[in-house]
Parts: sequence; C-alpha cells; structure tokens
Amino acid sequence: MVTRMFRCDTCGANESEKRLVSESFLIDGKPVLVEGIPARACLRCGETVFSRGTTKKIRRTVHGHAQPRRSVQVDVFEYA
Ligand SMILES: [Zn+2]
Repeated sequence: MVTRMFRCDTCGANESEKRLVSESFLIDGKPVLVEGIPARACLRCGETVFSRGTTKKIRRTVHGHAQPRRSVQVDVFEYA
C-alpha cells in the first residue's frame, strides 16, 4: 500500500509519527469515544490526522451494530 506523503493541514510540516489516539465524536447528539485509532501526528504542532480509510472505518464502527467495549459518563460544559 502506498502511503501519501504527510503534510500537516495546520502548520505544513512534513514530519510525522504514527500514534494511537482516542477521539470523541458526536453521533446523533450523543458523544462517543473511540480508542486506539491509528493516526499520524505532526511532529511540529501535534495535530493528528486520520487516513481516509481510518475515517471510514470509524464511521462504520460508530454507526454500525458494533457493541461498545465499555461506557463512561461524560460531563458536558458549555463555553459561554
Ligand atoms: Zn503541524
């Protein structure tokens, strides 16, 4: 598989490292957390980027019939 050269959308740096990250998503108004997502992290600013395939798989996972591994309660604050 050919991996596209990394270019950070935020700062334009080309250097990145592979990292597993957790990211929360809002699905139909309900927050879900996905852990262990393979991402590329910019070495300069720390911005993490998911590949298109990874994004697709996340979407399939949270919208599909997969059972969550565990549930946590989330406190929601509004910046007002
Ligand atoms: Zn960057």
